[in-house]
Amino acid sequence: MTPTLTPPAGTVAGPAADERCDRCSAAGKLRLTLAGGSELVFCGHHANRYAEDLVKITFFTTDGSPEALKLSREIRARKLGDLAPSSTFLVIAGLAGPDLKVEIEGEAVGAA
Ligand SMILES: [Zn+2]
Repeated sequence: MTPTLTPPAGTVAGPAADERCDRCSAAGKLRLTLAGGSELVFCGHHANRYAEDLVKITFFTTDGSPEALKLSREIRARKLGDLAPSSTFLVIAGLAGPDLKVEIEGEAVGAA
């Protein structure tokens, strides 16, 4: 079995109007919750502009296999390169939907 973090085709709905990048209106890939509770949505391009502000990443997953841990490390390295925010890998009983395999939460300081 090959672990994957991509939901099967047809299981992901297109972004709603409030899931568009607040900078360029492209499909949203990252939702930031600000200290006051308001939210910002960014596309992958604009989300990457804040990568250096990440201080913590938490992977929530239902797959506690060594392969899943290895994959999470590979994804972090591919997306963040030499950036090294604090990182936690948590195996939990379930996510919001049965098709979901992972949720990644990031905390940034100084962004937005
Ligand atoms: Zn954008």
